[in-house]
Amino acid sequence: MTRSDIASSLQLSKGRVSVITGQLMSQGIIEEYAYVPSSRRPSSLLRLHPKYASFIGISLHNREASAVVIDPNGTVLAKTFFERGDDYETSIRRMSEAVTTLKNECPEETNFAAVGVALPAYVSMDKQVCITSSVLGWDNRDVSTAISKEVGLPVFVENDTNALAVYESMFGGMRNIPAFVVIAVGDGIGVAYTIDGSVHHGEYGGAGELAHLPVARSLTEEAPRPCRCGNKGCLETVSSSQAIRARAKEVGLPPNIHLISTKAREGDPEALRILHTAANSLGYAAASLIQILDPRHIIIAIEDDLLHGVFTAALRQFIEQNLMPSFNRPERLQFTCYDTLVWAIGAAGLASRKHLFRSH
Ligand SMILES: [Zn+2]
Repeated sequence: MTRSDIASSLQLSKGRVSVITGQLMSQGIIEEYAYVPSSRRPSSLLRLHPKYASFIGISLHNREASAVVIDPNGTVLAKTFFERGDDYETSIRRMSEAVTTLKNECPEETNFAAVGVALPAYVSMDKQVCITSSVLGWDNRDVSTAISKEVGLPVFVENDTNALAVYESMFGGMRNIPAFVVIAVGDGIGVAYTIDGSVHHGEYGGAGELAHLPVARSLTEEAPRPCRCGNKGCLETVSSSQAIRARAKEVGLPPNIHLISTKAREGDPEALRILHTAANSLGYAAASLIQILDPRHIIIAIEDDLLHGVFTAALRQFIEQNLMPSFNRPERLQFTCYDTLVWAIGAAGLASRKHLFRSH
């Protein structure tokens, strides 16, 4: 942004902004990096100085965990991958080792400021504690203190889908978009929503948890199935990749998303039924969320094999047919398959926000 942009958004005089930005530049916190042509005189674009600080992000979203180092503008400087481990102690040790590996890969003068960790979990409001995670089997674990003790840096934890929303709002296509929703469909279903530029957390870290809406009881003909949360018939038991694979296996289809999608494209009635049921249930939840929140965009993150076939077509159709006409704007819906590093980059982004602005 330019000095004029800063002046108008903070309602300060241009003179005052020039003094402040001059001080920040002399301290090496910000820099001019490009010029905007103008009929009068060109203005400089300002950004955080890439060498001011570096942030580490770790993601346990997948079994193959990942960790990155980014500069304050989201450029990835180093990355590493590791197995997340089967128990809490092993995971903490491996995350701490990943931090050491990344530090060794960066130049000695790198100023590491903080670490962010994305977990498939509910986390505490202060971003320190994993309240509960059915995927990891952790309850009330102070992940922040455990890693911080090993690596000597402040550590902040975040729900993995919330970390994805942080990635989008800081470095992705949702920069400057105040209200958007992310629904991430994998072996589980995660939802995050951003209002006025901040990810809404909820009192116990579970805001927008659509995965456990009991949709199967009203939207499918089959008996509700047990969910890992302890209830029955949740959205996750119908629409997650794991649920799709399990149903395919039951009817003699290969439990493989790529092959199920191919079978559906070829007209196999069972493959079509499974994908339509999954898409319609997810569509019901997504349409409800759009009508409740009225976001500018809703990003549905799904694996590549579901992105260009029957599942996505049915999902889009169901959402569009079930929205109130004035809410039905095709540009709202975005379907995407993310690179595996985005969760870790989002976690690093959270660490940078916490370090720079003491906010989320
Ligand atoms: Zn559930």
